[in-house]
Amino acid sequence: YKPLSKLTFDNSYVQLPEHFYHRVNPVGLKNAHLISFNPAVAELLDLNPCEINPSQLAQYFGGGKLLEGSEPLAMKYAGHQFGYYNPDLGDGRGLLLGEVINSQNERWDLHLKGAGKTAFSRMGDGKAVLRSSIREYLVSAAMTGLGIPTTQALSLVGSETYTMREGMEPCAQVLRVSQCHIRFGHFEHFYHRRMEDDLKVLADYCLDRFYPVCKQASNPYLAMFREIRDRSLSMVAKWQAYGFVHGVMNTDNMSILGETFDYGPYTFMDTYDPNFVSSHTDEQGRYAFKNQPNIMGWNLSCLAQSLVGLIPKEGLIEALDECGTLYDRFYYGLMRHRLGLLSEETADKSLIDQLNSLCAAHHVDQNRFLRDLSRLNPEDDATIQACLLHAADPSALTGWLSAYSNRIDNEATSALLRQRQMQSANPVYLLRNYMAEEAIREAHQGDYRLVNTLLAVLRNPFVEKDEYERYAAKPPEWAGGICLSCSS
Ligand code: AMP
Ligand code: MG
Ligand code: MG
Repeated sequence: YKPLSKLTFDNSYVQLPEHFYHRVNPVGLKNAHLISFNPAVAELLDLNPCEINPSQLAQYFGGGKLLEGSEPLAMKYAGHQFGYYNPDLGDGRGLLLGEVINSQNERWDLHLKGAGKTAFSRMGDGKAVLRSSIREYLVSAAMTGLGIPTTQALSLVGSETYTMREGMEPCAQVLRVSQCHIRFGHFEHFYHRRMEDDLKVLADYCLDRFYPVCKQASNPYLAMFREIRDRSLSMVAKWQAYGFVHGVMNTDNMSILGETFDYGPYTFMDTYDPNFVSSHTDEQGRYAFKNQPNIMGWNLSCLAQSLVGLIPKEGLIEALDECGTLYDRFYYGLMRHRLGLLSEETADKSLIDQLNSLCAAHHVDQNRFLRDLSRLNPEDDATIQACLLHAADPSALTGWLSAYSNRIDNEATSALLRQRQMQSANPVYLLRNYMAEEAIREAHQGDYRLVNTLLAVLRNPFVEKDEYERYAAKPPEWAGGICLSCSS
């Protein structure tokens, strides 16, 4: 363990050509105070969670003070937003404070979100409000708990600085921790400006830092693209398996590490709905739940287009053509796992598709249904009823449930082992919008207990605890009326 003031910085991004970024210091918040920190993320940075000094953390990650070795910068990038290319993007309110090397020799970017204006802020104020900061902070822990690749968050700092969003709202800062803050949009920026040399510098930097194994391939850039593709599709398959809607899958929000990135109006769906759109500003439904895998393919094609100077076209086309098959392999593999099917049968795909159709038609909460399914014992009627009751008309699920019971008869594992395995794949707790809403409401009153309780609940989503019973239960009636906007 190290004290916060002794973190070892080794900043490599700042060594890249100067027009890759813009140097600027964070702006401190008024009366910055620590709301919460994530002990697991502290450990990643070699900080002892038991020795965190709340006011010190709030000083350094509330923008007021710089750690020794920190060289803050705003990254330049571009990207496709809702299908249209926008050259004018970049870190407009988040700063890379620097890169820390831990005792495992891992390199972690420290990125302070809500750190003030930069050269890329355009009309924005460079601020982040408490509402969206709580959502990013909590979902980072929730995704980690579920095993879905994500950026992480060390700290959430509140303040008495206010700004105008949906009315006047208090500002906050989240310290985002990830191995990489490079987006598809970084590559698009250099491609669209015809800066071929810089594009190669960026690609070589990514190879060195994130994909060194690819350097042995006959075309290292193609090998790297294929790796980015695999990770991105595997990530989206997890979103689809757990009912997560990102909300704003613009290419500037796509990490080249295949991590869920730049949280905005995301949702874990309470009831399974392929047409669900998470952000009310997405009027066309471009980023509806069912569109996410194809949108990822489209985003990957934007990245591929940016790489045409480094990779022969045929290689890129072939890599893109494989997206559908790869995605299906990831998605159905995950769903078989959630259903406790360790062996693979051709009919499994249609069993899963049928379940999805039934869940959509009968407004089933697929996550709660699957958790109950993991307790299913075909000899015990109460466990069958528990599953059926997830549909308003329970008879809707009887046919599927008997097909499923027949299917698990073919499995070699015992019922007990299957149950254990299923419980490790089917969470009891997800960060539902109503939970975040409640935590936000209380935080606005100055009460941060619920933020911290939810952090604890979501870090271990597979282990049921009596005291958290409420969060395992059906969401309250008002949950359906929550409306999310991009304003953050
Ligand atoms: P996002 O919607 O967070 O993915 O951001 C899209 C673009 O707008 C990025 O270039 C951000 O840096 C920028 N941006 C978002 N919010 C702000 C803000 N409050 N101030 C300045 N720039 C912002
Ligand atoms: Mg963004
Ligand atoms: Mg952003």
